[in-house]
Amino acid sequence: MQIAQSLSSLRPVWLSKVSHRLARGEGVRQSFVQQLNLFYDQLEQAVETGDPAWLNPVLDEWVQARTQSELENRDASLPVILNHILLLTFEVARENLSESDALDLMGAVLPVYTYTFEYTARLETKLHVEYVSHELEGAKATLERLDKSKSDFIAIAAHELKTPLTLIEGYSSMLRDQLPSREKSPQATIMMQGIDKGTRRLREIVDDMIDVSMIDNNLLSLNFQPVWLNRLLQVTQREFTETLKERNQVLEIHPFPGWDEMTFGDDERLFQALRNVVSNAIKYTPDGGRIVVDGRRLPGFVEMTIADTGIGIDPEDHTRIFEKFGRLGNASLHSSGKTKFKGGGPGLGLPITKGIVEAHGGAIWVESDGYNEAACPGTTFHILLPLRKDPPDDKSARLFRTVLEPNLQEEVQVEKVMNGQEVS
Ligand code: ADP
Repeated sequence: MQIAQSLSSLRPVWLSKVSHRLARGEGVRQSFVQQLNLFYDQLEQAVETGDPAWLNPVLDEWVQARTQSELENRDASLPVILNHILLLTFEVARENLSESDALDLMGAVLPVYTYTFEYTARLETKLHVEYVSHELEGAKATLERLDKSKSDFIAIAAHELKTPLTLIEGYSSMLRDQLPSREKSPQATIMMQGIDKGTRRLREIVDDMIDVSMIDNNLLSLNFQPVWLNRLLQVTQREFTETLKERNQVLEIHPFPGWDEMTFGDDERLFQALRNVVSNAIKYTPDGGRIVVDGRRLPGFVEMTIADTGIGIDPEDHTRIFEKFGRLGNASLHSSGKTKFKGGGPGLGLPITKGIVEAHGGAIWVESDGYNEAACPGTTFHILLPLRKDPPDDKSARLFRTVLEPNLQEEVQVEKVMNGQEVS
């Protein structure tokens, strides 16, 4: 028997067998039979012409009708279903045709089915990728909305807190002036000190919120001037002398190539960034620990490292700590002080530090084997800063002419003497 005839003769048995095996429920089966009929029409055409692409329209329709859960379930994928249909086709052929006719038919339909596996697998993968990227876009939009809400909250809260805080600061300063001397009224002096300490901490938090808000909105403007890292580090060392003594910690600052080179930067902001990282190193290192600042000179850059012998940070949190409110579970929940062991803060210090470093064209990242309060694996922060030898604008060039061209300093002095000006 010719293959075309065999195929045609098998249609009723094939339809009944495939629909009963693969479709559950009468209603589903009826519409499935329609689809199978269409499939069989195209299968006959494909076998007759030798072109399996005849099946494309019906396969396209099947792929488009797939639900997401079907796409995610490997057992319900179209290539798997088509494989069942192929096996049922072989079964029907073996049961209803002579052996040689069955073999001829199997040989003819096999390449067509092989084509359908590849075709549907490709289409399903494409559809799945489209679905996943759509989901990802949705998640990204949600995250962006969330980040925007955080930014808006910070900006509004900072603004709303600023005015009453300024009032408290003003009135407490007036109150301080009115107070009798410490000897006459020791109680009132202690209370006044309490108010001062509280308002100072609140001012720091509000200032941090304002900084984060400026960084978020790209409004952080830098006041460029000549900066020397060794000097900033000396100031940092001085700033923490008392605290280091209290916590029985040492801060070692090792001289490194490039640390005494002049670079243009915002010294106040860079000091703020350094202070944040060093105060974290103190906070998250137990009493008796060691903090080492070192670095190296790279072409056009200087890389500073601040390493501590503290509790460490899990690798999965290395990005999170630079996000707003990215404080980890290891910090105490309330803001218990800037340098107490594990004394939590609002989680704004590192986002600000990152904003400042990046505004200078640099980068900051962290290295730590993980969080372990018993073993204390330590944490190392890396700060990469570009060495900016040229002034950022004409105004700075004029203003810092003498620093940029040391010979000029002498000429200016001579000029002053000649003009009868005093030279100090
Ligand atoms: P916080 O105000 O909480 O200190 P930061 O933004 O400065 O906020 O730091 C975010 C979080 O990163 C901290 O809550 C802490 O969990 C973690 N962290 C920062 N520096 C260190 C460090 N040197 N060692 C261990 N954990 C650290």
